[in-house]
Amino acid sequence: MKIHEFQAKRLLAAGGIPCPEGHVIHSDADSEKLKGALSDRLWVVKAQVHAGGRGKGRIYKDGNEVSRGVQLTHSEAEALAAAARMLGGKLVTVQTGEAGKIVHKVLVEKGVEIAAEFYLAIIVDRETSRVAVMASTEGGTEIEEVAALTPEKIHTEYIDPLLGFKGYHARNLASKLQLDPGQTRDFGGFVAALYNLFLEKDCSMLEVNPLVWTGEQFLAVDAKVNFDDNALYRHPALLDMRDLSEEEPLEVEAAAVQLNYIKLDGDIGCLVNGAGLAMATMDTIKEFGGEPANFLDVGGTATAENVAKSFEIMLKDDVSGIFVNVFGGIVRCDVVAQGLVDALGSMELTIPLVVRLAGNRMREAVALLEKSGLPIITASDMKDGAEKIVAACRR
Ligand code: ADP
Ligand code: MG
Repeated sequence: MKIHEFQAKRLLAAGGIPCPEGHVIHSDADSEKLKGALSDRLWVVKAQVHAGGRGKGRIYKDGNEVSRGVQLTHSEAEALAAAARMLGGKLVTVQTGEAGKIVHKVLVEKGVEIAAEFYLAIIVDRETSRVAVMASTEGGTEIEEVAALTPEKIHTEYIDPLLGFKGYHARNLASKLQLDPGQTRDFGGFVAALYNLFLEKDCSMLEVNPLVWTGEQFLAVDAKVNFDDNALYRHPALLDMRDLSEEEPLEVEAAAVQLNYIKLDGDIGCLVNGAGLAMATMDTIKEFGGEPANFLDVGGTATAENVAKSFEIMLKDDVSGIFVNVFGGIVRCDVVAQGLVDALGSMELTIPLVVRLAGNRMREAVALLEKSGLPIITASDMKDGAEKIVAACRR
């Protein structure tokens, strides 16, 4: 699960990690309330969406550029005007792609004196199965570029889970960043608190970019926090921070009925059971020159209802054809076939549908589909099915 920057900063602040003071604005009413409260001169106004690259991003309204994703302002009036311009606009950054993201919330934050910018992140490193703490002097800029072109500028400490984060981990990083003794002391406390928060909240990523040295202290000027979904049950309070409007609407709809739906970039919809079969199905479609638009995993306990629901979700996506590839182990093929017949009975199918059902009660399933008279192309195996759906979609 992802959260917004302002939410991440609240968590950091609660964990004793210094962040600039900020105020969140959702609407004109919020702006009214803030009038008179922003006494400082420098305010940075920041669009809150689940995507990075906002500093270099642009916000559009009716096709016209109205603002950057992060805007420096010099008075309360300027800050509130900038927030009003951003709200309701479409922010386009390298991470959002052309489609952009609508700005529903804005953070108005105290402008910070930047003496130096650093990069700091904590992730779970799969190769070493350890938590890795990474730091670089190349903060603020595109860290992906730094990682690709000058990986030696990113320094990493791998933390033994039994020992935990120790002073020497912080000192090693501080020395590689060439911090002075005063900075090193402050940095040690900062990173240790961040590491504790990472563990306590079962994060999968915690990134502070830039980490700013003001001349007196380190401040988290940007913060990105992702949580491990499998551990969310341990933190019910975190769920309040979920913002469904930032997530793929069809994925949210599918998750609500316990279906696993993943949106991809191609045009062929894949309705499958099991993640392994999903991978194999997508590979086979690609093998024949097709591109999957998504995969919808009905799981091991497909019922006629959830197959029908899957089909409904699938048709809402922009697909030019659908490949149903189900292996009946525990799942009964005739139940899946019944779901398809139920779903298609109430709608007109205008795109090609290839169905491959194998395994448990497969003969009954084929008989059901044939009896229905629906315009379904049946396939004998996965290869045959992938070839047929790609051909049908290219016609
Ligand atoms: P993103 O990573 O989405 O581009 P950031 O929050 O990192 O957004 O902001 C982009 C840049 O804007 C930062 O690298 C920093 O230079 C500047 N900035 C952001 N917030 C502040 C602030 N409170 N004070 C001063 N500068 C800021
Ligand atoms: Mg940033």
